[in-house]
Amino acid sequence: MAHIIDGKKISTQIKDELKSRVAGLKEKGICPCLAVIQVGSDPASTVYVNNKKKACAYIGIGSRAYELPEETGEQELLQLIDQLNHDPSVHGILVQLPIPDHMDEQKVIMAISPDKDVDGFHPQNVGALNIGRPGFVSCTPAGIIQLLKRSDISIEGKECVVVGRSNIVGKPVSALLLRENGTVTVCHSRTRRLKEVCQRADILVAAIGRPKFFDDSYVKEGAVVIDVGIHRMDNGKLCGDVDYDKVVSKVAAITPVPGGVGPMTIAMLMNNCVESALYKNQE
Ligand code: NDP
Repeated sequence: MAHIIDGKKISTQIKDELKSRVAGLKEKGICPCLAVIQVGSDPASTVYVNNKKKACAYIGIGSRAYELPEETGEQELLQLIDQLNHDPSVHGILVQLPIPDHMDEQKVIMAISPDKDVDGFHPQNVGALNIGRPGFVSCTPAGIIQLLKRSDISIEGKECVVVGRSNIVGKPVSALLLRENGTVTVCHSRTRRLKEVCQRADILVAAIGRPKFFDDSYVKEGAVVIDVGIHRMDNGKLCGDVDYDKVVSKVAAITPVPGGVGPMTIAMLMNNCVESALYKNQE
């Protein structure tokens, strides 16, 4: 029977470990603090921002919320980021994406100081990951590696197939799997014979944003399947990029949706924030 990788449980473990680390840091006078900036009032973004605030409160990380109106100018946002970059009491800065169309997302990401870029989106951190240097790793990919490690699933030498090559999931998770000595193939919309490539995978990471795309014909018997996708169906329930019901009886392990990869993203964001506070106090 497949092992169902419990992202909720693993993320709670991580948050509890962070909680005691933060308590220890506070005894030394170090108070980790995350600044979260939201521009506009997109309801999904508000939910994400609130979840981040809740996680900070649970762990004991200070959080500062900046809620800017939709019509805020790019320059104003860049000034706020600059101010936070220079504020020694702030260890992490996060701009909730997407931002309004009149702002240049890359310019905003690049304005965040790389040593406070807890989302791991700054080109310096992306580059560091790819050449094996220390830096912040983006949170969903880092969470996927934790799910595998904490489920005692080894990566070394395994055929890892990642479907999706986005900057926030596909590319960084591929780099991390390579760093863990997996043999990595990255697929995308132009990949030929996708099904055949997927069938080779010991570890299949599905991150294409298409509901229930991967059925049992894509997976090898005994594979490990990580489903990054998240979609709301017409019946209100959530599903992933993988057709869970068709795949579950064939695989050795699988992440459910919800309750798999999803909860790990915030846990790893919190981890990055604590690491940032630690690092800054060792400098
Ligand atoms: P993007 O839309 O940015 O990227 C999708 C990728 O999938 C692209 O590289 C695209 O290829 C590829 N792709 C699309 N269709 C196919 C296909 N039919 N066959 C092969 N490849 C295909 O998505 P994201 O990476 O941002 O997100 C992927 C999914 O993960 C979404 O469902 C998203 O909601 C979810 N997600 C979940 C998170 C979590 O915390 N659980 C966090 C982030 C995302 P090409 O490059 O050629 O266009």
